[in-house]
Amino acid sequence: MAGEPQADCLFCKIVAGEVPATIVRETGTTVAFRDINPQAPTHILVIPKVHYANARELAAAEPAIAGDVLREAGVVAAEEKVDTTGYRIVFNTGPGAGQTVFHAHAHLLGGCDLQRLV
Ligand code: C5P
Repeated sequence: MAGEPQADCLFCKIVAGEVPATIVRETGTTVAFRDINPQAPTHILVIPKVHYANARELAAAEPAIAGDVLREAGVVAAEEKVDTTGYRIVFNTGPGAGQTVFHAHAHLLGGCDLQRLV
């Protein structure tokens, strides 16, 4: 069923506590944890607890939770003190954009000069 945990999903396992992660913040609908392969001094993933394959599917089915993900990314940015220096939020969507884990997630990147793509 839409939104239900998927047995083969790594991020569903992190939500369930079955795979370890360095969790920095958790709410009723989201979990934020440090990326295991950081691409910036601050690199945190914010994920919804519900399972949707990508941000588009999450926003279509659960717009309030998609908003929660964005809000939490901002809260974590402030906690990590990158809110004043600037940060980037990225949703890779589809393999062609580099998405490798098909559970919606926001990358929060900051703490250095970020290469400008757009
Ligand atoms: O956007 P993409 O799907 O490529 O992002 C997945 C991210 O999940 C990667 O940056 C990867 O380093 C991270 N990851 C993680 N913990 C895991 C497996 C992957 O932080 N156990």
